[in-house]
Amino acid sequence: MLREKGTELPFTGKFLLNKEKGIYVCAACGAELFSSDTKFESHCGWPSFYEAKGNITLKKDTSHGMTRTEVLCKKCGGHLGHLFDDGPKPTGKRFCINSLSLDFKKKKTSVQ
Ligand SMILES: [Zn+2]
Repeated sequence: MLREKGTELPFTGKFLLNKEKGIYVCAACGAELFSSDTKFESHCGWPSFYEAKGNITLKKDTSHGMTRTEVLCKKCGGHLGHLFDDGPKPTGKRFCINSLSLDFKKKKTSVQ
Protein backbone atom coordinates (compact mmCIF):
# COMPACT_ATOMS: atom_id res chain seq x y z
CA MET A 1 0.00 0.00 0.00
CA LEU A 2 1.03 3.59 -0.48
CA ARG A 3 2.37 5.43 2.49
CA GLU A 4 -0.07 8.08 3.66
CA LYS A 5 1.11 11.49 2.41
CA GLY A 6 4.57 10.05 1.92
CA THR A 7 6.83 12.03 -0.35
CA GLU A 8 10.07 10.64 -1.64
CA LEU A 9 13.24 12.67 -1.76
CA PRO A 10 13.67 14.56 -5.04
CA PHE A 11 15.83 13.02 -7.77
CA THR A 12 15.59 9.52 -6.25
CA GLY A 13 12.49 8.25 -8.01
CA LYS A 14 12.76 5.28 -10.28
CA PHE A 15 10.64 6.82 -13.04
CA LEU A 16 12.23 10.27 -13.13
CA LEU A 17 14.38 9.51 -16.15
CA ASN A 18 12.12 6.91 -17.70
CA LYS A 19 11.69 7.80 -21.37
CA GLU A 20 9.87 4.69 -22.52
CA LYS A 21 6.42 4.89 -24.07
CA GLY A 22 3.56 3.59 -22.02
CA ILE A 23 1.03 4.26 -19.32
CA TYR A 24 1.71 5.18 -15.73
CA VAL A 25 -0.75 3.46 -13.43
CA CYS A 26 -1.55 3.67 -9.71
CA ALA A 27 0.90 1.47 -7.79
CA ALA A 28 -1.84 0.48 -5.38
CA CYS A 29 -4.82 -0.33 -7.61
CA GLY A 30 -3.63 -0.22 -11.22
CA ALA A 31 -5.86 2.63 -12.39
CA GLU A 32 -4.46 4.37 -15.48
CA LEU A 33 -3.25 7.82 -14.45
CA PHE A 34 -0.82 9.36 -16.94
CA SER A 35 0.49 8.72 -20.43
CA SER A 36 4.22 8.87 -21.12
CA ASP A 37 3.30 11.31 -23.92
CA THR A 38 2.42 13.94 -21.32
CA LYS A 39 5.55 13.44 -19.20
CA PHE A 40 8.05 16.31 -19.30
CA GLU A 41 11.27 17.48 -17.69
CA SER A 42 10.28 19.87 -14.95
CA HIS A 43 13.51 19.89 -12.92
CA CYS A 44 11.48 19.57 -9.73
CA GLY A 45 12.98 16.15 -9.08
CA TRP A 46 9.80 14.11 -9.44
CA PRO A 47 8.15 12.65 -12.53
CA SER A 48 6.00 15.42 -13.99
CA PHE A 49 3.07 15.35 -16.37
CA TYR A 50 1.05 18.14 -17.92
CA GLU A 51 -2.15 16.16 -18.33
CA ALA A 52 -3.88 13.35 -16.45
CA LYS A 53 -5.87 10.55 -18.06
CA GLY A 54 -8.77 11.17 -15.73
CA ASN A 55 -8.54 8.69 -12.86
CA ILE A 56 -7.52 11.34 -10.40
CA THR A 57 -9.14 13.42 -7.69
CA LEU A 58 -7.93 16.90 -6.77
CA LYS A 59 -8.08 18.11 -3.20
CA LYS A 60 -7.03 21.32 -1.53
CA ASP A 61 -4.07 20.65 0.73
CA THR A 62 -3.23 23.25 3.37
CA SER A 63 -0.63 21.22 5.25
CA HIS A 64 2.89 22.57 5.87
CA GLY A 65 1.56 26.15 5.90
CA MET A 66 1.04 26.16 2.12
CA THR A 67 -2.03 25.96 -0.03
CA ARG A 68 -1.47 23.35 -2.68
CA THR A 69 -3.58 21.02 -4.73
CA GLU A 70 -3.16 17.41 -3.76
CA VAL A 71 -3.52 14.71 -6.42
CA LEU A 72 -5.20 11.50 -5.33
CA CYS A 73 -6.10 8.30 -7.14
CA LYS A 74 -9.80 8.44 -7.95
CA LYS A 75 -10.20 4.70 -7.55
CA CYS A 76 -8.39 3.94 -4.29
CA GLY A 77 -7.78 7.39 -2.79
CA GLY A 78 -4.02 6.90 -2.64
CA HIS A 79 -1.83 10.00 -2.47
CA LEU A 80 -0.02 10.57 -5.76
CA GLY A 81 1.53 14.02 -5.56
CA HIS A 82 0.63 17.65 -6.15
CA LEU A 83 -0.67 19.81 -8.98
CA PHE A 84 0.87 23.18 -9.83
CA ASP A 85 -0.10 25.82 -12.38
CA ASP A 86 3.31 26.40 -13.93
CA GLY A 87 3.40 23.56 -16.43
CA PRO A 88 3.98 23.72 -20.19
CA LYS A 89 1.41 24.20 -22.92
CA PRO A 90 -1.23 23.16 -23.80
CA THR A 91 -2.58 22.70 -20.25
CA GLY A 92 -0.27 24.91 -18.19
CA LYS A 93 -0.54 22.25 -15.51
CA ARG A 94 2.25 20.40 -13.75
CA PHE A 95 1.38 17.16 -12.03
CA CYS A 96 4.32 16.43 -9.75
CA ILE A 97 4.01 12.76 -8.88
CA ASN A 98 5.93 10.39 -6.59
CA SER A 99 7.54 7.49 -8.42
CA LEU A 100 6.56 5.36 -5.44
CA SER A 101 2.90 5.97 -6.21
CA LEU A 102 3.30 4.86 -9.81
CA ASP A 103 3.73 1.70 -11.75
CA PHE A 104 4.64 1.68 -15.43
CA LYS A 105 3.03 -0.35 -18.17
CA LYS A 106 5.22 -0.37 -21.24
CA LYS A 107 3.42 0.11 -24.52
CA LYS A 108 3.31 -3.02 -26.61
CA THR A 109 4.98 -2.26 -29.91
CA SER A 110 4.50 -5.65 -31.52
CA VAL A 111 2.12 -5.90 -34.45
CA GLN A 112 -0.36 -8.77 -34.46
ZN1 LIG B 1 -5.27 3.76 -6.98
